Amino acid sequence: MVKMCLRCYQERPLDSFRKGDRELVSCAPCREYARGNSYKNRRAQPSKVRADNLWALYRIRPEEYDALREAQAYRCAICGIHESEITVGSRGRPRLDGTPNAEPFRLVVDHYHASKRVRGLLCGPCNAGLGGFRDDPALLTAAARYLLN
Ligand SMILES: [Zn+2]
Ligand SMILES: [Zn+2]
Repeated sequence: MVKMCLRCYQERPLDSFRKGDRELVSCAPCREYARGNSYKNRRAQPSKVRADNLWALYRIRPEEYDALREAQAYRCAICGIHESEITVGSRGRPRLDGTPNAEPFRLVVDHYHASKRVRGLLCGPCNAGLGGFRDDPALLTAAARYLLN
């Protein structure tokens, strides 16, 4: 007798779905996988947390982010501040289990708004500045002209 697992759609022996006298929805390998991927387990792996955060914030993979950092010599594409000189406000809550937090992102990912394509990495203030001028080169030029008056 086999039963189809509702997670992986594999047919597994019935034993795979039994625990004591309970029938389970997912098969043993799926339960094993879910355990390994649990929130608590994930949090214990800073590199995985970093990857998740990069994806959630910027839709970018760690390799892409690190390649950009290297290409820009770890500096803001506008003002040139080095990422080691950028202080980040919140380092997150200390972990109950004492594992280190994921390294915070000092350079933020700037996107073209229309296409969502990555334009480059900027420090927070430069990124906020662009946003303040609606990413509009004409407004930024006008602002520079205004400042020079
Ligand atoms: Zn399964
Ligand atoms: Zn900057």
